[in-house]
Amino acid sequence: RNWAESKLTTELLKAVERAGYKKPSPIQMASIPLGLQQRDVIGVAETGSGKTAAFVLPMLNYITRLPPLSEENEAEGPYAVVMVPTRELAQQIEDETVKFAHYLGIKVVSIVGGQSIEEQGFRIRQGCEVVIATPGRLLDCLERRYCVMNQCNYVVLDEADRMIDMGFGPQVDEELDEKKIYRTTYMFSATMPPAVERLARNYLRNPAIVTI
Ligand code: AMP
Repeated sequence: RNWAESKLTTELLKAVERAGYKKPSPIQMASIPLGLQQRDVIGVAETGSGKTAAFVLPMLNYITRLPPLSEENEAEGPYAVVMVPTRELAQQIEDETVKFAHYLGIKVVSIVGGQSIEEQGFRIRQGCEVVIATPGRLLDCLERRYCVMNQCNYVVLDEADRMIDMGFGPQVDEELDEKKIYRTTYMFSATMPPAVERLARNYLRNPAIVTI
């Protein structure tokens, strides 16, 4: 199997090549085609499997088909939100996303606790297609209208089991309830306890389950 079979756009294939990723990992081979069809996905995978690129690449592919955001037109974005349990994970996902997004002119902002929320709000409003967030900080930004979910039709819940363990369940519910119309939702979790199954039942539509 190779990248050319993945059906990513030519620009993204170039970005993947520049990143030095010679071959897709098994989780990437399984989940990228599903993501490109905007099918909801539950990925049961651990860090080290290449799970980040497995959701980042279809997400960026989706964004390249949307109109570019203009700096004059504030608060249009984001087009996609990735929710994560910790600041460290937000940073790792940002690094992995920027690796590809950089070549496509797609802007990424992470919003996590422990840093100025005003500054993060300012960066979102300057125009960014992708927001990577911890659930608590995302909710603060939504309440202050620094960030709006109107145009966000692609949501990723990464390490869903850890988000639940850390008590973020109610915030995640509130954020996903913000917008009910059609969206693609990706959920990655190393384990599937009942609270994670409940999230999947409530917010994913006919998800494909990918286990590696
Ligand atoms: P992850 O499981 O997403 O945390 O990824 C683990 C590491 O593998 C990260 O450093 C990625 O940059 C790298 N990686 C992901 N996919 C590939 C690939 N197809 N080829 C080479 N390296 C990769």
